Amino acid sequence: MAGYSLDLDDDQRQVRDWVHGFAAGVIRPVAAEWDEREETPWPVIEEAARIGLYSLDFIADVFADPTGLSTPILMEEMAWGDAGISLAIFGTTLAVTGILRTGTPDQVAEWLPRCFVADDGRPAVAAFATSEADAGSDVSSLRTRAVYDEPTGDWVLDGTKAFVTNGGIAGVHVIVAAVDPALRSRGQASFVVPPGTPGLVQGQRFRKMGIRASHTAEVVLSGCRVPARCLLGGKERLDERLAQAREGGSAGRSQAALATFEASRPAVGAGALGIARAAYEYALDYAGRRRQFGRAIVENQAIAFKLADMRALVDASRLLVWRASWMSKNARPFEAGEGSMSKLFASEAAVRVTDEAISILGGYGYIRDHPVERWHRDAKIYTIFEGTSEIQRLVIARAISGLRIS
Ligand SMILES: Cc1cc2nc3c(=O)[nH]c(=O)nc-3n(C[C@H](O)[C@H](O)[C@H](O)COP(=O)(O)OP(=O)(O)OC[C@H]3O[C@@H](n4cnc5c(N)ncnc54)[C@H](O)[C@@H]3O)c2cc1C
Repeated sequence: MAGYSLDLDDDQRQVRDWVHGFAAGVIRPVAAEWDEREETPWPVIEEAARIGLYSLDFIADVFADPTGLSTPILMEEMAWGDAGISLAIFGTTLAVTGILRTGTPDQVAEWLPRCFVADDGRPAVAAFATSEADAGSDVSSLRTRAVYDEPTGDWVLDGTKAFVTNGGIAGVHVIVAAVDPALRSRGQASFVVPPGTPGLVQGQRFRKMGIRASHTAEVVLSGCRVPARCLLGGKERLDERLAQAREGGSAGRSQAALATFEASRPAVGAGALGIARAAYEYALDYAGRRRQFGRAIVENQAIAFKLADMRALVDASRLLVWRASWMSKNARPFEAGEGSMSKLFASEAAVRVTDEAISILGGYGYIRDHPVERWHRDAKIYTIFEGTSEIQRLVIARAISGLRIS
């Protein structure tokens, strides 16, 4: 087990400084433009790929840090640059994590490289689709079906996924579908849909309040046929799992699934932290320069105290995110829902800090000449995706009480 220090080591500092340079020099200057365009910023993704920042090798290095801290450091710096562009680039890691969590070593070797690079050598993005129109927080009630075609050994997927980051523009799509709907979440499995597979198309593309450089769309699956090797974990493992669930020996497994979701949440919290830090820094600088009544507005306690609270929220978010990232990497159980706690706290802190930043800029905070209104719009999604704040509170409440709070 690796301990961690609040003094970053050389590798972690190198990751932070390199990514920060990219966020400051490449992402920030074009963030407002891509927010207005509401399009995937392919030139930025291509530049990130060209320098090796968007690559399987780099992500593998970051994930390999035994303290677990390099992942939140990466996500904080990227979102500090711009949360929408950050998600456009690293939304792929949702699918990567899904494949790593459930795939066999052969499947990991086959599909991970294809999440990043298309067959023609150009950068590609990947998507991970669980949510449906009627199954958001309640992921146990998925309607998308996966049916085994005995004669060919293929799986046939049918259904519509809602709100998919990179949905339809991704090369690799990872789709969570019900194999045995009666078993609810215990009857589900994940499938890789390879690039260009017939029967998978993009449906409605959603226009959003924030993170507008990130593409969000429905994914429609109609008779989408994938070969046996696309069932993550393989059929033997699935059959065993289904048999166990049918016999009722399932409680442990559904707890394990919950724990897995918990593990990815600190990285989402780190994104929220990056936005909050950006807004705090911007507001602090502005408050020192903006003069009213003959002095800088920061000299008013009302403004200085806001900044003090903002800084405390930013630092507390980072400490919770780092703790949860370290616990997750070192297989420490989240006995008090620490993964959810980090995402809950950091996302709500980001909403509050960006709101206060707007107040500190006054009327200038509300207009698009300054980035704080965009950061406020971007921050809100962090309280919604990967489980809403209400669901995070449920996870924490259940963990600390041991009761089935509903
Ligand atoms: C921009 C964006 C990108 C996304 N990307 C992806 C993606 O890549 N892949 C993917 O699979 N999904 C993605 N999602 C979906 C996202 O995870 C869901 O929107 C989220 O989980 C909430 O589900 P819902 O929208 O159906 O809300 P609902 O589940 O309908 O919730 C509505 C409200 O009811 C509350 N609520 C629900 N159940 C309970 C309960 N038991 N107790 C208390 N309160 C409750 C919620 O907290 C919320 O306030 C994305 C969504 C957005 C907006």
